[in-house]
Amino acid sequence: MHDPILECPRCGQRLTFTQAPNACPNCKYDYLEVQYDLEAIKRDALPRWPERPFSLWRYRELLPLRNADNIITMGEGGTPLLRSVNVGTMLGHDHIYIKDERQGPTGSFKDRQASLAISSMKEAGITEAVVASTGNVAISYSAYCARAGIKLWAFLTSLVPADKMREVALYGSEVVKITGTYDQCKEIAASFAQHRGLFLDKGLKSISARQSMKTLAYEVCDQLGCMLDGYGKWRAPDWYIQAVSGGMGPIGTWRGFEELYAMGLIDKLPKIAIVQSSGCAPMVTAFKAGRDTADIVTDPQTHIATLATGNPGLAYTELRRIIQQTGGAMEMVSDEEAFRAMHVMAKMDGLSVETATGVAFAGLFKLIGQQTIKRDEVVVVNCSGHTFPVEKELLGEEWSSSIEAPKSPAAPQEGLLSALERLDDRMRDILIMDDTPEASLLLRRILQAHGKYSVREAVNGRIGLEMVRAQPPDLILLDLMMPEMDGFAVLDVLRTDRELSRIPVIVVTAKELTAIEKQRLSGKAQSLMQKGAFNEQDIVDKMLEVLKQ
Ligand SMILES: *Cc1c(COP(=O)(O)O)cnc(C)c1O
Ligand SMILES: [Zn+2]
Repeated sequence: MHDPILECPRCGQRLTFTQAPNACPNCKYDYLEVQYDLEAIKRDALPRWPERPFSLWRYRELLPLRNADNIITMGEGGTPLLRSVNVGTMLGHDHIYIKDERQGPTGSFKDRQASLAISSMKEAGITEAVVASTGNVAISYSAYCARAGIKLWAFLTSLVPADKMREVALYGSEVVKITGTYDQCKEIAASFAQHRGLFLDKGLKSISARQSMKTLAYEVCDQLGCMLDGYGKWRAPDWYIQAVSGGMGPIGTWRGFEELYAMGLIDKLPKIAIVQSSGCAPMVTAFKAGRDTADIVTDPQTHIATLATGNPGLAYTELRRIIQQTGGAMEMVSDEEAFRAMHVMAKMDGLSVETATGVAFAGLFKLIGQQTIKRDEVVVVNCSGHTFPVEKELLGEEWSSSIEAPKSPAAPQEGLLSALERLDDRMRDILIMDDTPEASLLLRRILQAHGKYSVREAVNGRIGLEMVRAQPPDLILLDLMMPEMDGFAVLDVLRTDRELSRIPVIVVTAKELTAIEKQRLSGKAQSLMQKGAFNEQDIVDKMLEVLKQ
């Protein structure tokens, strides 16, 4: 096909593409860009993409590898784009899409980077390499290096959880643990590589690493177009969100959006939002202060090792430029907010993510809460990585029950039976009356995940009241606007019945109440919650409070 051209963004020098050039021969700048003949690609390659398997290599004409024989692939890319279910309902936002990068071969979006970077190493004849990593790059590179026959030296900070370090070792890489920050770790890795004359992965300055991330943009626009506008259509989201450490992901992905825009496949560039952990948020801090360079965080205060890049360097300049171009956002969240988001994503939408990814979702919640992201805007979140063995701090005390099995089969079974009964004797019976299936599903899911409730559902007030009469529940969650018999009428009936008037009611409504309606409710419902404006803990807290009375 058409060979790409390397371009120096500083002096404009153009070079034909050769493997792993270190810097511009003219001005020595070492952050080079790649330009493709996009017209030709659109004409000759694009029509062939749908025939290929859905993976990163579907877009191979746009990736800087010369010979397809050098491709090292394990099924990276081509991950699903999932629409959020309960979390979207909870946030009152219908257009949240999750790019499920957990489904890569080693469980994170670094598999894109590894596939192209290791293929490029192979093409360059490299058989031994050095990488510094906050965890996932080392894991992913190790897996691909195993297939490519490349010995890898992985320099990891001691912050990286032991489980991840062991995984790197399992793939046969040399694990070098550095007690110090990630930035120190990078320096030590660089001097080791120089000393030993070994190839060093250049991180953000690696052309193949950045270019690999482009494929996220191609896939997302392809999938969104297909889902929202029909087969063969492309569509850019309004927002693209990622949790950021060094910034490789959004910088590389942006390049893809730019190319798609230049080819006329999408009609706008998305707004980019990056989210950092507040214990290590050099970019967000500088951005909010309006500064054009970021101060280095020398002592990151976060448990989220994956995101502990204290010195963003060039990445900040790039991301600031990108974000200012379309009006995106930089936001930070605490570790606690990230852990909470991680729980919410798992319990509400079935996605178990690693803490770094929890940062992206916590950022999403915050940006929607602040109305930076509007309710009608289409959002794509990079669900960047999978959970590893769940860290102890995350679950607290009461996350399991234990039961002792009888010593012998002949032993009496009563003990076991009563133990099993005790498992649900704290269960309270909750009745949901709501005609909107999404809302009812969300409430049911919140209660199920909390563990202490059994749930019944009614799609209108008439059916609900029949169920109440047949078996009075401990609590009713009541929608106001329902067909046949609305929530106001239900409350009127309940409050005039001697037996039923004792059942507490929490009204959960999407309706903006008028003064007269508030009057109608007063004294009849214990509490009122606005749909799309509460989180799952609010509901649970409110229920505990009401049930205690
Ligand atoms: C690397 C990584 C990030 C941060 O990505 P950058 O674009 O390099 O800042 C976020 N989440 C996960 C799971 C990662 O592995
Ligand atoms: Zn130059």
